[in-house]
Order: sequence, then C-alpha cells, then structure tokens
Amino acid sequence: MHCPHCDAETISFTEWSIGLNAFRWRCPHCEARLGATTRVKLFAAVFFVAGLAVGGYAVWEYASESVSKGELRLNLLIGLAVLLMIGLPVGRVIFGGGPYRVVEQPPETPDTPE
Ligand SMILES: [Zn+2]
Repeated sequence: MHCPHCDAETISFTEWSIGLNAFRWRCPHCEARLGATTRVKLFAAVFFVAGLAVGGYAVWEYASESVSKGELRLNLLIGLAVLLMIGLPVGRVIFGGGPYRVVEQPPETPDTPE
C-alpha cells in the first residue's frame, strides 16, 4: 500500500489487518498521520455486526439447549472461518483500493543551516 502523502510503500496487508492499524497509521517514510477511509470504516462495521450476529446466533442456539457445548464451540469456529473466508478477500480488495487518507501533514523538516 502506497502512502497517499509521499507515495512510498507504507504498510503491508498483514500489518494493516492487525489491531487498529487499519484505522490509524503513521507513515514511516514521511511521518504523515493516516486514517481509515469511509469505505474501511463501513467494512469494519459490517464485519463487526456480522461477527456479533454469528456469535449471538451460536450462543442463542446453545442457550435454547438445541446444541451441546461442544457443538457451540464447533459452530463458533465454523462461523469465524466463514467470516474470515469472506472478510479477508473483501478486505484485500479494499486495501488494494487505498485504505487511507491523510489526517495530518507531516511536520516540516527543519532547514539545515548552510
Ligand atoms: Zn508517507
């Protein structure tokens, strides 16, 4: 992914996917502060709600005693796997389309005295 400020390679998809890097990042080349685009925030919101729905449904199924604890674990694992199988490729496409906007310009580099 290229920095929208200096155009240098700023972050890999793996790094971007970890923790809150997708939401705030400082470019190691130009020090510009970068933030998530609306598309990234929307995707994260949809992914989060889908996760809650899948997890909630599995727990509800367990609570209504139609599945055992072992089946609950299995259902949660399958749900997570399905979410990742859908989420990772979609995330990759969003990442490729440019996931950042410049939040703050880098500080001016001080002029070297001549
Ligand atoms: Zn940069």
